[in-house]
Amino acid sequence: MGKHLAPKKKHELNFIKRIPKRVIGPEQAAHVLREETDEVPKTGAHAVREQPDAAPVRAAHVGREKNRQKPEKAAGPKLRMPTMRMPTLGRHPWIFYVLAVILLIVIRFLPLEGWKIPAAYAIPALLCLPEHVLNAWERFRRGDRLNGSLIACLAAVLLFLTGMYPEAVLLLILTFAISFAEKLLLDRSNAEHNTLSQILPGAVQLVTEEGTERVDPAAVQPGDIILIPAGERIPLDGVVFEGITTIDTATVSGQRSPWAVNVGYKVYAGCRNLTSDIKVRVSRPFEQSTANKILRVSESAPGFVSEQESFAQRFSRIYTPAVLGLALVVGVIIPAFRGGWIVHAQRAAVLLIASYCVPELFCIPLLYGRALSKTEKMGVFTKGKDCLEAMAKADTLIFDKTGTITEGRYSVTDVYPVKMSEKQLLAIAAAAECFSRHPIAFAIREASGRLDERALRSVRLREIPGRGVSSLVGNRQVLVGNAALLEEHGVKYNIPSRPGTAIHVSVDGRYCGHILVADKVRRRAFDALETLRVNGVKKLVLLTGDVLSVARPIASRLNFDMLRAELRPSEKAKAVGYLMKNKGSRTSIAFVGEGENSGRLLTDADVGIAMGSLGSDQAFACADMMIMDRDIFKIPKTLVISRTAYRAAWENFAAGAGVNVLLVLLGALGVVTPLAAEIVSFVVCAAMLGNTLRLK
Ligand code: ADP
Ligand code: MG
Repeated sequence: MGKHLAPKKKHELNFIKRIPKRVIGPEQAAHVLREETDEVPKTGAHAVREQPDAAPVRAAHVGREKNRQKPEKAAGPKLRMPTMRMPTLGRHPWIFYVLAVILLIVIRFLPLEGWKIPAAYAIPALLCLPEHVLNAWERFRRGDRLNGSLIACLAAVLLFLTGMYPEAVLLLILTFAISFAEKLLLDRSNAEHNTLSQILPGAVQLVTEEGTERVDPAAVQPGDIILIPAGERIPLDGVVFEGITTIDTATVSGQRSPWAVNVGYKVYAGCRNLTSDIKVRVSRPFEQSTANKILRVSESAPGFVSEQESFAQRFSRIYTPAVLGLALVVGVIIPAFRGGWIVHAQRAAVLLIASYCVPELFCIPLLYGRALSKTEKMGVFTKGKDCLEAMAKADTLIFDKTGTITEGRYSVTDVYPVKMSEKQLLAIAAAAECFSRHPIAFAIREASGRLDERALRSVRLREIPGRGVSSLVGNRQVLVGNAALLEEHGVKYNIPSRPGTAIHVSVDGRYCGHILVADKVRRRAFDALETLRVNGVKKLVLLTGDVLSVARPIASRLNFDMLRAELRPSEKAKAVGYLMKNKGSRTSIAFVGEGENSGRLLTDADVGIAMGSLGSDQAFACADMMIMDRDIFKIPKTLVISRTAYRAAWENFAAGAGVNVLLVLLGALGVVTPLAAEIVSFVVCAAMLGNTLRLK
């Protein structure tokens, strides 16, 4: 149990003033007035809108965007990896290299003499060279002037001219082998991504007066009715209009979780309709459908460069020209004065071999690409490689209690009316809460049963985050919320006799009683938090708007290090800001919230993780990582994946850069032969590629 379990008084925390970003909630009904009680600017750089159709996926990061790095050449929308696809000689360029290997072995054992030796080695060399030249030219044309293929060609030519024929051929073979293996790994990642793109619909069966008509999904408008046959994927987001069926979210959430849906239930594009045909009233155009949003996130993610990647880029940008310059000095300038052209040309070839790394940027983009694919397979969608890197560095995790640690599914446990029946109290509260999307509102509506639809038309809802609602029902003002809400409105209330989350109700300033609601701690919350600790998370913080008497037992049971209860959203934002201000320079802070209710807070930490993101516009607009379902164990799993990628990236960089620098030093002194340099370089590159397989 941590030291700061009791909430600190406000003055004890030297909060910095952060202007939180504003999130405009999705699907705000015209009659729903959401009172933002915090001082939030309504326009300017902090205005964050619900993700519009064509806006970049990262609209929510307006304030943080300046710290992020995009690749120099942004990856095209359909390009999964930032690596360029190279033209090849035919479909199977490796055939040339296999032939070259066979020839190399045969020639070695042939009793050749004089001019016949270079002539014989020229055959495998000429088999290998075209692919390299094509590659080098393509990269050169695309702006990668000092590319590995070009340098390998130069080194091979230099070796051949100085009489090291087998070494020249071997160099071409080994560099090809590494690039080919890298390409195979990239293709595998791309193939995984292509399975994800299957969640996009082909054609949609639009219900018309004459029957059904197959149309393009983009042509379907909100309000249209579509038919979804059993066994097919749901093409667009909507609400079930006719039929009962079971749907499975496995394609988007990564886990088989069939659930039954009936008329009035929401269904999301990308999920599969399992058992029977249903008709759905479309609620969003194709562009804003869940499947389209997921795909856009997934496609733009590899385009964001991690810090490690940009570090490796900077290193290569200095290192390669520097070593090439040194090669020029060793190979041309020194022998011009001292002679010994052949020896010096061979030393220069060693420097050329040591001046580049065959896999792109020490495999760092590949590592993060694989980490992204791996998390996506679990149904965790990340907005960029840099977010995974920030997750890897997280040493503090802040949880917004409801919907993360707890299930976020409240139920009414007791009703304490004052001068009215239990049923009446529930009916009043349910009417006032009828448009609220808070889990407590769902519980109260459920307990109250069906509401009179005509009466509901007169309800005007004003939500007060962290407090409750203040609604006009007809011409009466109904307050439903916690004690602080009633205090703020000057309404006297009864202190609940039993512990729990008490929701007080008043009508026109007259106290009507309270309703006790309870939420359950997630089954695997304890194990998930312990796994986080085992994997290096040092501080777990619980923030909640709920009362201390409810939050304290949860925090102590789950070993949280710090708890702050009875907070409004603005106070939660200050708490996150305080922790952000006081964090270590090499660490980061992750905030875990519920997609629908944590909105703006998700943008304040280094990494905002939204749980239950399926169908939540706020999650897609504000979070950096979206967990589609509510499996809390996906947080430690994502942490482990990102840490593995992060560590492997440093290992690769250290091994690749270290060995190359060593080769440069020894090569310049003439200690290393070209053959040794080739083999060492090959082994290191192969080890780097092997390291990426840790993220299987
Ligand atoms: P948490 O921090 O656990 O996510 P919230 O900030 O969403 O909680 O809410 C804090 C408290 O505010 C709740 O425990 C409840 O007492 C009250 N509250 C918020 N919204 C509502 C609502 N719609 N109806 C009733 N009470 C509410
Ligand atoms: Mg909440």
